[in-house]
Amino acid sequence: MRSTQRGSGRVIIAGAGPTGSSLAIRLATEGREVCVIERSRFPRHKLCGEFISPECLEHFRALGVLGPIGAAGGDSIRRTVFYALNGRSAEVPSEWFRGSGGAALGLSRAEMDHRLLEAAKRAGAEVVEGASVCGAHLESGRVSAVEVRFDDGSRETVDGSIFVDATGRQRVLANYAARDKTKRGHRQPSLVGFKAHFSDVGMQPGRCEIYFFNGGYGGLNFVEGGRANHCFLVSSSAARDCGGDADSILSNVIFRNSRALETLGGAKRELEWLAVAVDGFGLRELSPAPNLFTVGDAGAFIDPFTGSGMLMALESSELLAECLLAGELERTALRYAAAHRKRFRGRLRLCAFMRRLAFDPRLASIAVSVAGISSGFRRIIAAMTRKGIPDKVVNP
Ligand SMILES: Cc1cc2nc3c(=O)[nH]c(=O)nc-3n(C[C@H](O)[C@H](O)[C@H](O)COP(=O)(O)OP(=O)(O)OC[C@H]3O[C@@H](n4cnc5c(N)ncnc54)[C@H](O)[C@@H]3O)c2cc1C
Repeated sequence: MRSTQRGSGRVIIAGAGPTGSSLAIRLATEGREVCVIERSRFPRHKLCGEFISPECLEHFRALGVLGPIGAAGGDSIRRTVFYALNGRSAEVPSEWFRGSGGAALGLSRAEMDHRLLEAAKRAGAEVVEGASVCGAHLESGRVSAVEVRFDDGSRETVDGSIFVDATGRQRVLANYAARDKTKRGHRQPSLVGFKAHFSDVGMQPGRCEIYFFNGGYGGLNFVEGGRANHCFLVSSSAARDCGGDADSILSNVIFRNSRALETLGGAKRELEWLAVAVDGFGLRELSPAPNLFTVGDAGAFIDPFTGSGMLMALESSELLAECLLAGELERTALRYAAAHRKRFRGRLRLCAFMRRLAFDPRLASIAVSVAGISSGFRRIIAAMTRKGIPDKVVNP
């Protein structure tokens, strides 16, 4: 990418997670000039539950990547079972969600993200890996270029007309471009996420299991290669009590959930633990400058227990692509904010409520026990994690 010759409508996308790559595919397929700048070199592991909800498969089909992603050898997940600390459980079949064949997919982010990015290249997007966005140039309040540092230490200024922050929860580009530097999004981390792959797990394929424990919850499902991914989110204080050591958290905190002990007690860890700090959930500023848009986790982060972060990534990139392709940049920010609010506000609101249950083992046990009684009730809650609480319920 060392050349800086640009077409007039060039879109610069920072970050090649599911959001950045899917947006690149959508825009490049419509003939837009797109450049994706990604810090890592793919394939790379990424902290995530690696539960790809059934609706994502419809997006993969529309993006033309269902074949390559389906061929990666992931696990077809037919049900998710929630296990409370008191031993109670409640099951949610994948067929309750819209999507291909009523199954979710367990697949590593290494595979999924790599295959999406390859599809973006095939669609015509320019992709630069091993390149970190490390600054933004502003002219009259608009972003005119980004500063990029390559992994060989060299630097370059990359200009464009439209800029998209798809760097995930860190909102790297939005933070560099923030007009009011006090608004930069450095919040105090209150949770820590960990993830590793395991062999010899005491669980059948085709399932995702969620374990509640003191200070957090974790998920387990198979991915490709006969291994299972265990990913958990725990309060910083509980992590500190275990010296920040994931193996110690697993043995001393998570294994108090008897089902987690049963499935993971004899398992062998096959990957170094990945860890990440999580400093908050919910909606963030969607257009920090008239020609800069945040999307995916950079725009709004939803609680992982819904298994719908990647769905929101794909849906929000679809919304932004529609708004950008509709033309008239001056109206894009308003149009995008309205569409985003309509699609996601109710979901984010429901999750803010459910979060209180998820992190309180006593409330989580009650919720799982109640949900275990009625499949009709479970089905309504499952649908609400996608459709959200309607405005008329909150503001009658
Ligand atoms: C503990 C945990 C478990 C989760 N489990 C699930 C799950 O099971 N199912 C689910 O659907 N969702 C899950 N999620 C949510 C899901 O991971 C996110 O919603 C999803 O990854 C968002 O995609 P994204 O593309 O917006 O961001 P990301 O996937 O974070 O991608 C951002 C990309 O930007 C790159 N980047 C960062 N900084 C720079 C920079 N300066 N310059 C260039 N590139 C940069 C990164 O390398 C990365 O590739 C989980 C989240 C957490 C925290």
